[in-house]
Amino acid sequence: MRRAGEFPPAPKPLAVPVFDSHTHLDITIDEVGVPGAPGADPVEALITAAAKVGVDRLVQVGVDVASSQWSADLAARHSAVLATVAVHPNEAPRLADLDEALRAIEALAAQPRVRGVGETGLDEYRTGPEGRPAQETAFAAHIAIAKRYGKALVIHDRDAHPRVLEMLDTEGAPDTVILHCFSGDEAFAIECVRRGYLLSFAGTVTFGNARHLRAAAAVTPPEQMLVETDAPYLTPMPHRGRPNASYLIPLTVRALATASGTDTDALCATISATGERVLVPWQS
Ligand SMILES: [Zn+2]
Repeated sequence: MRRAGEFPPAPKPLAVPVFDSHTHLDITIDEVGVPGAPGADPVEALITAAAKVGVDRLVQVGVDVASSQWSADLAARHSAVLATVAVHPNEAPRLADLDEALRAIEALAAQPRVRGVGETGLDEYRTGPEGRPAQETAFAAHIAIAKRYGKALVIHDRDAHPRVLEMLDTEGAPDTVILHCFSGDEAFAIECVRRGYLLSFAGTVTFGNARHLRAAAAVTPPEQMLVETDAPYLTPMPHRGRPNASYLIPLTVRALATASGTDTDALCATISATGERVLVPWQS
């Protein structure tokens, strides 16, 4: 377990607010703790730290039935939080009863402040060939749930770009598709943009060895961009290796603005507007 004291200092606040499109508050609290004074409510501490630097809302992402339930419950009682629900692609092959889990996810997806289904998708990095059938069954089921309830589909794609697109074509993509922690190159970005998908960039876009991600950002219109932490993972530079949280979004969105040749304030305004469009309406 990493220590909460290892949280990096807060960056300079944003002038125009933006939201974190993908975070795991529950995992952050379990694995790291929270920045700031001990004893504070951990969820409130993380949300307040983010709000102080202009990260005014966040999307809490479920990875199994328990965390999806937690995410849905939090969104129901917190106006700054929306939820997505899913069985993670690395989790699906491990379940004794995948169908039962998918039924639970579907019930949660019907809730009004659950605005997305995910993270779901394919992971050919962590899951071997023996796990692929369950992973693909789960992905197809999540696509169907997203369409049935009119929710955004939040995709985890690790080393599986061609197969993810193929399955979206076969199953039929929902209106809103978000590629979380976009990890492709310029050519894959162009393909996703052409299909109208949203590309959500994480702290990886700030890494020295991530020239392909900055090239991908350069060909993505700001209207199809989102920004995320995937906290507690993928901490942006110059704090790579330390714990991540939504209050570090300013570092990533500034790098994204530079890579895409836009101004940070304009990009934050555009991303916020996109959030209102695809996850609307935030406050209801
Ligand atoms: Zn995630």
